Amino acid sequence: MSIFEQDLDKSEANHLALSPVSFLQRAAAVRPDQLAVVHGERRYTYARFWQRSRQLASALNARGIGRGDCVAIMATNTPEMLEAHNAVPLIGAVLNSLNIRLDAATLAFILEHGEAKALITDREFSPVISEALVKLAKPLLVIDIDDVLAEGGELLGEMDYETFLKTAADTEPRIGISDEWQAISLLYTSGTTGNPKGCVYHHRGAYLNALGNLCTMGLSHTSRYLWTLPMFHCDGWTFTWAVTAAMGTHLCLRKVDPALIFQLIEAHDVTHMCGAPIVLNMLANSPAELHRRASKPIELATGGAAPPSAVIEAMEAIGFNVTHLYGLTETYGPATVCIPQDDWPTLAPEQRSARMARQGVHYITLEDAAIMQAESMNAVPHDASSIGELMIRGNTVMKGYLKNPEATRSAFAGGWFHTGDLGVQHADGYIEIKDRAKDIIITGGENVSTLEIEEVLYRHPAVLEAAVVARPDETWGETPCAFVTLRQPDGATEQEIIDYCRARMAHFKAPRSVVFGSLPKTSTGKIQKFALRERAAGLA
Ligand code: ADP
Repeated sequence: MSIFEQDLDKSEANHLALSPVSFLQRAAAVRPDQLAVVHGERRYTYARFWQRSRQLASALNARGIGRGDCVAIMATNTPEMLEAHNAVPLIGAVLNSLNIRLDAATLAFILEHGEAKALITDREFSPVISEALVKLAKPLLVIDIDDVLAEGGELLGEMDYETFLKTAADTEPRIGISDEWQAISLLYTSGTTGNPKGCVYHHRGAYLNALGNLCTMGLSHTSRYLWTLPMFHCDGWTFTWAVTAAMGTHLCLRKVDPALIFQLIEAHDVTHMCGAPIVLNMLANSPAELHRRASKPIELATGGAAPPSAVIEAMEAIGFNVTHLYGLTETYGPATVCIPQDDWPTLAPEQRSARMARQGVHYITLEDAAIMQAESMNAVPHDASSIGELMIRGNTVMKGYLKNPEATRSAFAGGWFHTGDLGVQHADGYIEIKDRAKDIIITGGENVSTLEIEEVLYRHPAVLEAAVVARPDETWGETPCAFVTLRQPDGATEQEIIDYCRARMAHFKAPRSVVFGSLPKTSTGKIQKFALRERAAGLA
């Protein structure tokens, strides 16, 4: 045995479970009076945030909930959601944040599959939740969030959240964290192909990814983070814990409303935000008289879908500094970041934003990300044109899919997580996603990236939003079909859009058909390409 292994064992002095809950405990000790959470008229300091989280933890303990139990929550970005992100893991339980746009049948499936023992639910969602609850085989503890800012709904649980907090306020919670590999949260993927899969996160990964965000976005105790990203989406890409680690201020927000967002930006002098490209587009295209700026450009992280470079430019023009992140539910949200190089500011704006629209390099807290051939697991040449699948490995990849060993095994085949995204790697090592494997168009045997066509469409002055999908074609197999929302009705004709694309790309890549109208979206701001594919297939 090496001398470095003798009498140098792990102990509680030098080896403890990494858990993001420790960030809140520390913030409450170090900056107890710092403003931690703002929601409407409500204000909580870090001391109070920690106290309320401990009260929730004790109240759950008192109802027999502890290590290994699942607690679901159906909520928007409110203080209760932040408290649950600390209270539930503190007692070793697992937080299952539900996507608020899901239907009753899917919610019931998730509550059954995740074996939730309790559900904390915002009154606004009582119609769909009451419908889901009747479908469950076993009753569970239901606690209502009775937020004054909620729009309608009714209380349907055993008691409201504030009353629940008081039920065990005098007892300390039973700390349930002993191993950093323990599950901390359960998040379901969208399930566009069958039942959704439950991604299980561990404490260690949540801790690391939160610190990765802190470094990447430069969060500090002077940060004022506006919650334009749903906290139920990958635990808010782990910013729920990252902002607390930095001891910054969480500015809650129930829904993406441009007027309110700009009002809050000005009122609180916001420093940081995250959002899907669709949210950015909505802000950039809102009436100019709504626009307000903070005292400095706002650091804005975008991801969840490819941001067209035109959208990045539009946001920069109205006071935001955009950072492009890429990730999936399986990777706690952000896994790669497009780190700007020193010479980029000197490039022409279009060239620079095209560089920024690449997905970039692996996060500081991830070990590796590479484009590989899925069959051989060999890396593709860094030539910007050889297409392969993006593979990821490191400590911020989920434990696996809940009760689905087969899906877990195939996702982790060959020692890498298979993202299902196709892309290329540039000479500088930067990754660029071309498409999801299921979205890429194969026309006359050639691969066509729908993101590449969308990138051009977003530059057309009449186009507000665009998505491209495959349309079955007898001659070519498939052809690109564009769905476009115009800024003004009659702003452009189908032929004008097609000609615009043909002038800017190889002709076989240009859309053959253009359909005008609004685009169906998911609650996380993604365009539902499967729905558009069905529409495209049905076109006369
Ligand atoms: P869902 O499957 O419900 O969309 P995820 O949030 O896990 O759930 O989606 C992850 C997917 O989103 C990725 O596999 C990728 O296709 C897409 N995506 C995320 N970020 C980016 C990005 N920056 N650029 C391009 N695609 C992205």
